[in-house]
Amino acid sequence: MPTYRDEAVILRTHKLGEADRIVTMLSRRNGKIRAVAKGVRRTSSKFGSRLEPFMVADVQLYQGRSLDIVQQAESLGAYGSEIAAHYERFTSASAMAETADRLSDAEATPEQYLLLVGGLRALSRGEHDARSILDSYLLRVMALSGWAPALEDCARCAAPGPHRNFVVQLGGLVCGDCAAAGAPRVAESTLALLRALIRGDWDAVDAAPAADTAAASGLVSAYTQFHLERGIRSLAHVGSDREGTR
Ligand SMILES: [Zn+2]
Repeated sequence: MPTYRDEAVILRTHKLGEADRIVTMLSRRNGKIRAVAKGVRRTSSKFGSRLEPFMVADVQLYQGRSLDIVQQAESLGAYGSEIAAHYERFTSASAMAETADRLSDAEATPEQYLLLVGGLRALSRGEHDARSILDSYLLRVMALSGWAPALEDCARCAAPGPHRNFVVQLGGLVCGDCAAAGAPRVAESTLALLRALIRGDWDAVDAAPAADTAAASGLVSAYTQFHLERGIRSLAHVGSDREGTR
């Protein structure tokens, strides 16, 4: 298949030479794709802004020896401008794109593509608090990759819950026997919010008090950073600016 077509979210771009860009995408059927978009930085480019971060496009690519080449791109979701116009949406979208970029080829499934498109669409429309959209996305990314935090039974010995000690390194809630002395205890209302975020129960998420939203965000951020090992740079920008937004 020298030429192929797919739907893709643009995760990031970087300059190549005078006028070209290398575009990293998460596609629906072909996992992650890195491709050259020729002439994209000229004002006369036929791609326009369709290959900017957070845009969703129907792309036709030519399979090159090392990098593929973008031949056509039609917009399927112009989410970029509505996201970039709001700082909180932008930082959340950046963390989502960075997380998707970190998926291995085996993890870059159609489900991950649909999850990311759904999250970016919700951000662009301002459907919910931007940080909650990010938190829900991160929890569901982890769940699809088999790393969902334990929120019922003990993550270590499977003793039936309810438990209240959340230990990031052990994989979520742990029982009193497995928790080290001084392990942080999480409020039941915060745990209920985490479950709502992972289910996508937005009525419950939107109704949650700010204190639970902030506590859940802290846990999701710590859990995600630990389990994605290297940490997500963009997450450093989303935590502190939520004050005053609710
Ligand atoms: Zn246990």
